[in-house]
Amino acid sequence: MRAGVLLTSLADLVLGARCAGCGCPALGVCAACRAAITARPPMRVPLLPEGLPPVLAGGPYADELRRVLLAAKERGALGLVPLLGDRVAAAAARWALEAGSGGPVVLVPVPSAREHVARRGLDLPAALAGRASRRLNDAGLPARSWAGLRLVGRPRDQSELGRADRLANLAQAMAVSGAPPSGRLVVVDDIVTTGATLAEAVRACAVAGMPVSAAVAAAATMSWGAR
Ligand SMILES: [Zn+2]
Repeated sequence: MRAGVLLTSLADLVLGARCAGCGCPALGVCAACRAAITARPPMRVPLLPEGLPPVLAGGPYADELRRVLLAAKERGALGLVPLLGDRVAAAAARWALEAGSGGPVVLVPVPSAREHVARRGLDLPAALAGRASRRLNDAGLPARSWAGLRLVGRPRDQSELGRADRLANLAQAMAVSGAPPSGRLVVVDDIVTTGATLAEAVRACAVAGMPVSAAVAAAATMSWGAR
């Protein structure tokens, strides 16, 4: 972790720590926000680009979950990874229940741009995949994370772009390096918006001869079709 990011984290810890979900005085996320986030069942995400496998999210990108996810993305708040990773695990568990037996689950995080990781001090999709795989193992579903997707070229920041531009921006932006452990591949992202990132990850895996069984995220936006 970079020194600047570490100092920010320590200052958060020492000086007026606030719940990332509601702003009340608390370390990390307060009990009420934690309960609100974990009370929601994981959801199947509709209206995504054609050709995607089932996509599930730990909840809608709204209210407490939205604010906690924003805090994790913008401040790289490491302490929020367990709560968010558990939402990813819940989404993956729901998919595994629906899919039935089929061997271990291999969670494949979407790749993050190096400058984002440096700025945030955290590769959030990779951290979420790591946490979620531990939770799935604890729950009795063999799982591991495998960071085999790489960015090739330099796609622009997706948050500046509309739906069509996102798809074009990410076309052939990813590639697989190495061979995954055996199991069912499940792509992991922090948030699903248009599905463009997941679609590119699925395409890159398919090109490498590795079909993806599902994709999961901590949250999904509710503005499908609007962008
Ligand atoms: Zn709170």
